[in-house]
Amino acid sequence: MTWTLDQGLPGLENLALIPGTVGASPVQNIGAYGVELQDRFHALDAIDLLTGEVFTLDAAQCGFGYRDSVFKHVPAQPGDFGLAGRALILRVRFALSKQWQPVLGYLDIERRMAEEGVTAPSARQLYDWIVAIRRAKLPDPAVVGNAGSFFKNPTVTPEQCADIIGRDPKVVHYPMPDGSVKLAAGWLIDACGWKGKRVGNAAVYERQALVLVNAGGTQTPPPAAR
Ligand SMILES: Cc1cc2nc3c(=O)[nH]c(=O)nc-3n(C[C@H](O)[C@H](O)[C@H](O)COP(=O)(O)OP(=O)(O)OC[C@H]3O[C@@H](n4cnc5c(N)ncnc54)[C@H](O)[C@@H]3O)c2cc1C
Repeated sequence: MTWTLDQGLPGLENLALIPGTVGASPVQNIGAYGVELQDRFHALDAIDLLTGEVFTLDAAQCGFGYRDSVFKHVPAQPGDFGLAGRALILRVRFALSKQWQPVLGYLDIERRMAEEGVTAPSARQLYDWIVAIRRAKLPDPAVVGNAGSFFKNPTVTPEQCADIIGRDPKVVHYPMPDGSVKLAAGWLIDACGWKGKRVGNAAVYERQALVLVNAGGTQTPPPAAR
């Protein structure tokens, strides 16, 4: 991410600090702060682990969805949609627009803009904010074992959203281009009082309700399960 910024190629800054390899990024169509991999994706090369052949897929062939792609689906029969366990991604090509437009429509980013009195941040500034926001909220996997961002944000109809707002006006929600409304899963979990809750050695991180952490050690399974 910093490399692309250093080359004067903004566009990936909202994905800052998502841990993992470039090769894994299309698998769940990684996304954060209003940008998904598919928004900046051009094509990828992969090797077919059955035949050894290298092939190229464009975005449509990758079947991107919300934290989803063809690489997560096992075909029911040969020729069906799905390349899980079959394709090893070797190279990912990104398409970064020369007419850069910042993606700012997230509460945390809006707060930063208001705090710092900035209405048109640079890509580097946006990158720095997102790194700071994530560092403040997410545990470093090198320090606290964790599964990271595990839940999907649910989408509801505008009527369902109005019903939820009626019960709690503070509910965090984002209108989507298709008319649905996205709710923040972390906010919902927090509202249920689960932030910081521990069950055995698994816990909901006390600073971010989306994150499941290893609260310490390994669980010895009961004798029957061994
Ligand atoms: C603290 C934390 C925060 C996170 N935040 C986010 C977030 O904001 N947004 C988000 O989308 N995700 C997030 N994640 C999830 C994680 O970062 C992504 O899923 C990332 O893509 C995982 O990369 P990895 O290299 O560790 O892949 P792995 O976890 O090792 O693999 C993931 C899957 O991809 C397959 N795979 C890996 N490499 C390849 C390859 N080259 N070719 C084919 N298949 C492959 C694996 O077999 C596996 O099925 C977060 C995780 C953590 C721990």
